[in-house]
Amino acid sequence: GDPILDVQDLAMRFPVKKGLFGRTVGHVHAVDGVSFTIQQGETLGLVGESGCGKTTLGRSVARILEPTSGQIVYRGRDGAATDLATLGRRQLRPFQRDIRVVFQDPFSSLNPRMTLLQIVGDPLRAHGIAAGGELEDRVAEMLTRVGLSPKYMRRYPHAFSGGERQRVNIARALIVHPRLVIADEPVSALDVSVRAQILNLLWDLQDEFDLTYLFISHDLSVVESICDRVAVMYLGRIAELAQTAELYARPRHPYTEALLSAVPVPDPRLRDGDRRIRIADDLPDPADPPPGCRFHSRCRYAEPGTCDVPGSEPALGAVGPEHLAACHLTDRLTLQSPFDAPRSR
Ligand code: SF4
Repeated sequence: GDPILDVQDLAMRFPVKKGLFGRTVGHVHAVDGVSFTIQQGETLGLVGESGCGKTTLGRSVARILEPTSGQIVYRGRDGAATDLATLGRRQLRPFQRDIRVVFQDPFSSLNPRMTLLQIVGDPLRAHGIAAGGELEDRVAEMLTRVGLSPKYMRRYPHAFSGGERQRVNIARALIVHPRLVIADEPVSALDVSVRAQILNLLWDLQDEFDLTYLFISHDLSVVESICDRVAVMYLGRIAELAQTAELYARPRHPYTEALLSAVPVPDPRLRDGDRRIRIADDLPDPADPPPGCRFHSRCRYAEPGTCDVPGSEPALGAVGPEHLAACHLTDRLTLQSPFDAPRSR
């Protein structure tokens, strides 16, 4: 069927300013020509190191940021397609009910001076959906649904643990019954012991509310457990995109191979030191990506004269069924993965 979201050639540039008068000396291409779709009801993972542009991409899709160019075509409940990329603030309002964001940090994203009732109820008020007693009833219902007792709704965020605050965050996102949720590192700031609980909650809520997720994370173990498909981002572009089991078992881009090699796999035969592929630590400056393949400065397979030729950046192309990769040498390389068989989730 038609995707709920169809992103085409999206770009997000930020000016780099210098000096007393803030003269623009260049641009950071935080997102540099990204295309992908998300089907209704699926979870698409977006992975990559910090600085790869995944958060900026998520915020552009939610139109918290205005993209520099490209299309963000959203298909609404009535089937009508709208390009959100160019809409102004007023026109965006109805879509901000359909597309909601769950932010990473459950500590800074909740206003310490607002009670849970105010925090979770605010979107209902802002979108003119409910007020007064009805609003309170809906907040109580949603808090219960995310595993919090409504009797705490007049308390302030400081009274709650990180996991509980993330439940509040989720309740605030879902109270208006969105269709697409952009979850930006939703469990990264949490203790390992509560991560699984929050992931399970997100999974249950997806079924119950018929949600579609764009799940942003640097943690490949988390992504593997929750996503149907995964897009790997490097320096503002998608390096590889495939079904989760396929991507983890048969990576076709050297960057994906390196990321996977660092994922802890519960197999005693594989010790970390034996298989981790070292990539140089520092990400190149996104204002000045390397010419040719932008991964060539860190790629262990890079071939001079092929991979570093200015103007010949590898395009994201089909390398298998529903499998895309952007590497000149992908057909010649035999890449390794610690995930040898597709694992059931
Ligand atoms: Fe590595 Fe070359 Fe492929 Fe880029 S194009 S990922 S540098 S092998």
